[in-house]
Amino acid sequence: MTDPTATILAQAALLDGVSERARQALLRRGVRQKVEAGTRLLTAGCANDQLLMLLDGALDVHLPGGDGPHVKLYPGECAGELSLIDGQPASADVVASTDVTVLVIPHRHVWAAIDASAELARNLLRVLAGRVRNDDVALRQMADRRRHFERLSIIDGLTGLHNRRWLDAVFPAHLVRLQHEQRPAALLMADADRFKVLNDAYGHAVGDAVLQRVAGALVRALRPDDLLARYGGEEFAALIADVDLTEATEVAERLRAAVTSSHAAGDPDCTISVGVAQAVTGESFESLARRADAALLRAKRDGRDRVRG
Ligand code: GH3
Ligand code: MG
Ligand code: MG
Repeated sequence: MTDPTATILAQAALLDGVSERARQALLRRGVRQKVEAGTRLLTAGCANDQLLMLLDGALDVHLPGGDGPHVKLYPGECAGELSLIDGQPASADVVASTDVTVLVIPHRHVWAAIDASAELARNLLRVLAGRVRNDDVALRQMADRRRHFERLSIIDGLTGLHNRRWLDAVFPAHLVRLQHEQRPAALLMADADRFKVLNDAYGHAVGDAVLQRVAGALVRALRPDDLLARYGGEEFAALIADVDLTEATEVAERLRAAVTSSHAAGDPDCTISVGVAQAVTGESFESLARRADAALLRAKRDGRDRVRG
């Protein structure tokens, strides 16, 4: 019967092409250890002067601060080779994810074998290159995930528009920039009319669908450079540039008409009222928002489904 260890070692990347003599010289120095699942074999930050070659079972490599295992190692693979190269403490936790058998080879014997075998040195470089590549992928995935969550925190889940948090961060800064460039700007505040009645009559889920439709109509009616966000429940805000009050009022009217005509047959009707305010020189966003809100209130008082400046 073939020795399963011999089969594993024959496939080990580290020993590929290494002469039988050099291979035996190295393996003779190794001590075979059986370790139970859950045992920590290497600890990040702790000194390590051994190379572990996995003969049986699986190992999990956990990077410090990572959530979940970074990589899994299988028979024929090794751990502890970074410390071998740089003499630094272990860079990761290595934990047995099953009962495992490892061959533990002290670094000094590995170095002696490397001195005697160019193939072993070459294989070690290959193993390290694989690790670096793997770490690059992991770093990219972490960055992608961070961007995903950052995105989630500024996007409104119901409508897909930017949310109030984003508005608070971006609208004031954008207004400052426009004023610095001496470009006129206007703020539009749109609020769905009698939305409570709509919810009461059709239910909250239908109300949600209507809000999604309203948001879609607003997006389509604005230009790509206009800023739009869900300001709150059934209220939306748009900051638009390079328009005077008359033009801003026309844009608001276009939004109102777009919402009215966005409903298909059988959908509950929903209209919006819009307040418009044109920024005066040096005006803060806070003040502009107060004036747009006051205009919105006038639109409501005057009967809703209309625009007031
Ligand atoms: P007005 O014309 O004066 O604006 O009347 P209104 O009923 O729209 O205003 P009010 O502020 O009294 O009520 C707002 C309603 O909008 C109540 C609230 O439940 C509803 N609403 C806010 N956010 C959502 C949402 O995400 N989904 C649904 N379905 N309803 C919402
Ligand atoms: Mg309302
Ligand atoms: Mg409201």
